[in-house]
Amino acid sequence: MISIKSEYEIELMKKAGHIVYLTHQCLLPYIKPGITTKDLDKIAEDFIRSQGATPSFLNYNGFPGSICTSINDQVVHGIPGNRKLKNGDIISIDIGACYKGYHGDSAWSYPVGDVTDKKKYLLEHTEKALYEGLKQVRPGAHIGDISHAIETYAHKHKLGVVRELVGHGVGSHLHEEPDVPNYGKEKTGPVLKEGMTIAIEPMLNLGTREVFMEDDDWTIITQDGKPSAHFEHSIVVTKDGYQILTGDDNCE
Ligand code: MG
Ligand code: MG
Repeated sequence: MISIKSEYEIELMKKAGHIVYLTHQCLLPYIKPGITTKDLDKIAEDFIRSQGATPSFLNYNGFPGSICTSINDQVVHGIPGNRKLKNGDIISIDIGACYKGYHGDSAWSYPVGDVTDKKKYLLEHTEKALYEGLKQVRPGAHIGDISHAIETYAHKHKLGVVRELVGHGVGSHLHEEPDVPNYGKEKTGPVLKEGMTIAIEPMLNLGTREVFMEDDDWTIITQDGKPSAHFEHSIVVTKDGYQILTGDDNCE
């Protein structure tokens, strides 16, 4: 069942989402060559806790980090560790925060130092694909409308669409119904209603869509070794569209 959130629940999710946004901002100045992903994890965890929240991902199904750090050909679910960022890398950072029982979830991909034009292209168009999906969100629209818009945009820009992982409902659980795939047909799937809260998260590859899991049983990596990017916002469906919960404008 897809839950409809009350005004009170949405207020808590705005707060959780805002903490996620602030955590991304807090990490920004540290995303430089030489820092380890474990260092980023520590900074993020300390910040999330300083805001009266807890990291949603820590121990989620046994995940050992507070954030996910996925570099270059790593798509998602990279475990923070001793790997150091290098000039020319791109890093996808996925952050979840739980505030008074409600989750915010947002991923963003960042360049480290100077990156190639191809990587810039991947970052630019994966972010734009997220907004193409968001544009579809309003009461009465179908989940498939979001999926189709993301897939169409990605294919137009010759990017591979990862299918093994999808967006999702979000609320008192990190992952709720419905699934929000990044591929699909218009006018299919569940119908959006005011008060639904979902995370939309295209994962696009510079090469083909094929991915596999690394030996750590967490990290998803591209089959062809080409880079991947991931952009995600948690949103609430409003009377006439949507509001981003993990952006910079939901809390005064
Ligand atoms: Mg996420
Ligand atoms: Mg998510």
